[in-house]
Amino acid sequence: MIMLSAAGVRRRLIGAGLGLLRASGVPRLAAPVTRGLGAILMFHHVRPWKQTAFAPNRGLEITPEFLDQTIEAVRARGFDIVSIGEAVERTRRGEPGARPFAVLTFDDGYRDNLDFALPVLRRREAPFTLYVTTGFADRTARLWWVELEEAIRRLDRLEAVAGGRTFSESLATDFEKSRVFNELYWHLRAGPEEELLAVTGELAERARVLPDRVAERLCMDWDDLAIFAREPLCTVGVHTLSHPMLARRSPAVVRAELRYSKAIIEAKFGEPAVHLAYPVGDPTSAGPREFTMARELGFASAVTTRKGMVFAEHAQHLTALPRLSINGGFQTLAALEVLLSGAPFWLSNRGRRLNVA
Ligand SMILES: [Zn+2]
Repeated sequence: MIMLSAAGVRRRLIGAGLGLLRASGVPRLAAPVTRGLGAILMFHHVRPWKQTAFAPNRGLEITPEFLDQTIEAVRARGFDIVSIGEAVERTRRGEPGARPFAVLTFDDGYRDNLDFALPVLRRREAPFTLYVTTGFADRTARLWWVELEEAIRRLDRLEAVAGGRTFSESLATDFEKSRVFNELYWHLRAGPEEELLAVTGELAERARVLPDRVAERLCMDWDDLAIFAREPLCTVGVHTLSHPMLARRSPAVVRAELRYSKAIIEAKFGEPAVHLAYPVGDPTSAGPREFTMARELGFASAVTTRKGMVFAEHAQHLTALPRLSINGGFQTLAALEVLLSGAPFWLSNRGRRLNVA
């Protein structure tokens, strides 16, 4: 018997949906309408595949081979791979009938981007953007979702209280670990960030997972990042100081997170840093207040994790750009082709081109 977590079932259903959609031939036919001006692709980790049953953050990784295939497939579909700055220009011009663009973006500043992504990007001469969280490079910000994964991997019971709910669960098997991770993760994501950090911090401590070691192991330091700053293919972008879900913080915190992370990156590398990615980036983490603030603080673009293609209408909303997540759950070129057609978002957004409220 194959047991799947709720997320696994959802992934399979979406996978099947993409397959059916592709088989229907609709994406290819509809692409000129649904594809818009182009797409901004989102990546996190790029590293060799490690087979493990408990891998709840798998959605944040692809293999170097799949990155290579993605670049090839994107170009074979007629997309120009361009820098985020060039994509902003093309969106402003909004020429109908122009070749579509694709932007490759990498969030957080993972060390594997240096080891595994950069060689591929250089070999393919593909421009890309690296969004840096300064606190990860400084080892002061917390990758709480990794802390939670590692704590659950090590513990054989979960005892936690969050948002008035008591969790008392066995973590004896990988199946239990996956189920409990998903439940606790989404429960914490829905609540205040202070509690999320407190609960994951407490579990990490109990499991002897050290937050600064997690950042040290997974994220680049400033010397590593300098390699990207010197790389002509790379645009270094901003991804805040501490990776908070901004929409839940006070205006003063949001302003400080955006302004100081921008200033630090500019001081380190001596170049203007005018492109931003909102941490987490869903509607509960970045909304109209953040879109306005980013513009006021001098960002030329800002990307969310709302799904969709870029249309000419986005010229008025350059700090609320959608992205397509290319992740471990969908490492097939068939799925990529359907995503690049824009058809799934056209359907789910019911023909609306903008999702900026
Ligand atoms: Zn991030």
